[in-house]
Amino acid sequence: MRTILMGPPGAGKGTQATVLVDRFHIPHISTGDMFRAAMKAGTLLGLKAKEYMDTGALVPDEVTIGIVEERLHEPDCANGFLLDGFPRTVAQADALGKILHKIGLKLDGVLNLRVDEEKLLARLTGRRVCRKCGATYHVLYNPPAQDSVCNECGGELYQRRDDTLETANNRLAVYNQQTEPLIAYYRNQGLLKEIEGDQEIDLVLQDILVALGQAV
Ligand SMILES: [Zn+2]
Repeated sequence: MRTILMGPPGAGKGTQATVLVDRFHIPHISTGDMFRAAMKAGTLLGLKAKEYMDTGALVPDEVTIGIVEERLHEPDCANGFLLDGFPRTVAQADALGKILHKIGLKLDGVLNLRVDEEKLLARLTGRRVCRKCGATYHVLYNPPAQDSVCNECGGELYQRRDDTLETANNRLAVYNQQTEPLIAYYRNQGLLKEIEGDQEIDLVLQDILVALGQAV
């Protein structure tokens, strides 16, 4: 199975990626993870990426595309792959198309995990952290026994700045702005598969399998 997994923050992309990679024995290719690994290993590419990231700049397309191209040539990609975090722009998507064409491969589809905005905001803003011991909770998924009080130590729970409504709104706006052209691009190519992300993990998986023609 050769696919790209897209979805806004809070849509459960990480969970689905893990499930798919397990089920199909394919590598999970996350450019973010690859950059971090390359930097840690001190490879030429890692050093190059670090140079940009240290100055707060985005890693340029040619570097990102280079790392993905190398990765796709590795033997474990023969059965397929799941791309995550790449492509991020139409230029990257074009480059990916050319790379796959050269190798003689085609994407089975591009998965777009959808969850409505209100639900995403509830997920993204629900985290609470204990001031005293650092234990974390989620008001929806892992609530404390007593409102705003830590189960472990009785400390006060608070919302980190990263988890406020304002930050969450910003993250979603940036995501939407970035990915809209990409979604249109893959829709025009007939590759886009819209997946309802707001359901049980197994049902999301089932929809993905159907969309990619892999259901048994
Ligand atoms: Zn605590």
